[in-house]
Amino acid sequence: MSRRRVKLDVFAEITRNVASLSTCEKVAVGCVIVTYDLREIVAIGYNGWPHGLVHHCTIGADPCGCVHAELNACIKLAPRYKDCTCFVNKIPCLRCAQAIIQTQAVSDVIILDSPTEDSFPGINLLTAAGIEVERWV
Ligand SMILES: [Zn+2]
Ligand SMILES: [Zn+2]
Repeated sequence: MSRRRVKLDVFAEITRNVASLSTCEKVAVGCVIVTYDLREIVAIGYNGWPHGLVHHCTIGADPCGCVHAELNACIKLAPRYKDCTCFVNKIPCLRCAQAIIQTQAVSDVIILDSPTEDSFPGINLLTAAGIEVERWV
């Protein structure tokens, strides 16, 4: 197994662990952004209720009101980074795809989830913006 593959597996595992920190009652999502050379984790995020508010994930509602993992990671990303790789254990929604694109710091998104549908607006948007999308399951 190549060194890169071994590292990708390690970050995939870290992403699943970060997802376990989720406070959402509906779905646990983790997002880990690493430098292009896979040497440094520069931001992490998981989904949960907005900071400072009393936790109240409305499980029956869609959306449930939790802040998505990718958005939480993207807003913590320092502007100096370029060509980062973003790991996420679920397929990014349209809004999160927009957030990832707007960082201008991510060139690769690695999704640790199997496809359940044919078309995903989030993936389509990332691809249209020139971001490489890879499945890692
Ligand atoms: Zn929630
Ligand atoms: Zn999202």
